[in-house]
Amino acid sequence: MSVSRQNYIGGVGRDSVSGRVIKVFNPATEDESCRIPDSSREDIDLAVKAAQSALPGWSATPPVSRSRVLMRFRELLEKNRNEISGLISEEHGKTREDASAELSRAIDVLEFACGIPQLLKGEHSHHASSSIDCWSMMLPVGVCAGITPFNFPAMVPLWMVSIALACGNTFILKPSEKDPSAPALISKLLQEAGLPDGVFNLVHGSADSVNAILDHPGIGAVSFVGSTPVARHVYERGSAAGKRVQALGGAKNHAVVLPDADMDMVAEQIAGAAYGSAGERCMAISVVVAVGDDVGDQLADRLSEHARSLKVGAFDTQPDLGPLITMEHREKVLGLVDSGVKEGAQLLVDGREAFFDKGYFLAPCLFDAVEPDMAIYQQEIFGPVLCIVRVSSYQDALDLIAANPYGNGSAIFTGSGKLAQHFCEHADTGMVGVNVPIPVPVAWHCFGGIKQSLFGPLHMHGPDGVRFFTRMRTVSARWPEKLTGQREANLNIPEVK
Ligand code: NAD
Repeated sequence: MSVSRQNYIGGVGRDSVSGRVIKVFNPATEDESCRIPDSSREDIDLAVKAAQSALPGWSATPPVSRSRVLMRFRELLEKNRNEISGLISEEHGKTREDASAELSRAIDVLEFACGIPQLLKGEHSHHASSSIDCWSMMLPVGVCAGITPFNFPAMVPLWMVSIALACGNTFILKPSEKDPSAPALISKLLQEAGLPDGVFNLVHGSADSVNAILDHPGIGAVSFVGSTPVARHVYERGSAAGKRVQALGGAKNHAVVLPDADMDMVAEQIAGAAYGSAGERCMAISVVVAVGDDVGDQLADRLSEHARSLKVGAFDTQPDLGPLITMEHREKVLGLVDSGVKEGAQLLVDGREAFFDKGYFLAPCLFDAVEPDMAIYQQEIFGPVLCIVRVSSYQDALDLIAANPYGNGSAIFTGSGKLAQHFCEHADTGMVGVNVPIPVPVAWHCFGGIKQSLFGPLHMHGPDGVRFFTRMRTVSARWPEKLTGQREANLNIPEVK
């Protein structure tokens, strides 16, 4: 299927009004793969107008009918699984299997959204007071927008789009400019599924397009996923413009390993969670907290072995991990590795030594003896770099997590149910894994962190996703026998009786 790289507005492909474009590169070959419009305020305005004119029809469409369109869309995603996964791998660099798994997680959320008639039933109190019924309606917010990061070009957009559309909103997606082709194909499939024109619109671009979305008075809600500085900016600017905003930011996820854990199993699990997708996952494990030197020594040996054995390469060479997303990002990661060495951490495995004649590749790096004041601990690296921090007690591990400014996920590896339960109650992060290194919740639960990993009160998907994309209206109704006749005005607030 040929994929248009134009904007998709009101059911029609369009270039940007200004004619400006952004180049997209294949990170494994450094070749230009396509060009997309660099959208300005005028383009965003066109998308808002299209979404506004489609809103009355779509919001009045019964939820069950909206759900049926999404079910057809689900079938089309499955039918085009190979092509979507291929586009993700080519532009992002992750392996085909990982790209396909990403699409599966996206489809999980879509399936959750297909249950929207059940999810929008609201609440009803018959006889809430004498002759009064009280009930709630969950109404669409209106025109909503989504701004998404490069690392999950299909999954994160579909976290938002699936639930927003199911709830009766119309939508504008501004995907990452680094890997825009999977979202472009997804737009085409939404149209093929029978979604009316203007209900979903795709606008390509970068920071200027995002600011135009944040400032536009016709947009009621903005859902964002990306790095913490941009998440904070989106939350502040969007909220100041009167919008509802949820903005998910960066992460530094810790895995605490206690002495009673099975070290072979732990090392295998952590290596996958740290180096999979070249560490470019917001739920990647980037810090191992070894409780006791014996644990530290055992993990250092085992993790070194894993890190050295992983194959790095382009997705068509069956690698374990691919390149980083851009040359600039690779430079940033290399700079942090250099700083770790300078600050005195022990670089047990040095991925900088591996040679690649082209592409933004970096082989796995493993640091031991990392201290909390080092830049490699404090900053989100977002690359194949794992840090071992050694602490002397379980409480020290908990304190370390609590002091970290990020709060996306954390995990504990132990055979002790009692400590695992304590960890679930006290680990200061939004998501927790018990012997599970990447605790991404299933679609019908909510995904989100705390502290600088999430701005705004509502998480992604699950019940919070439905709350974010709906406005609650609560009705109190009575039908007295006679509406006219002698009545004395009651100036007190009515009591419930
Ligand atoms: P990013 O913040 O650079 O970009 C995200 C989006 O914001 C893109 O669409 C981009 O065009 C736009 N953008 C970039 N700079 C902007 C600016 N100055 N003003 C306005 N908009 C701007 O993030 P990225 O590099 O694409 O993605 C990686 C980051 O996303 C990591 O920090 C990762 O942890 C985070 N992430 C978080 C989650 C989560 O659930 N918390 C999930 C995935 C990724």
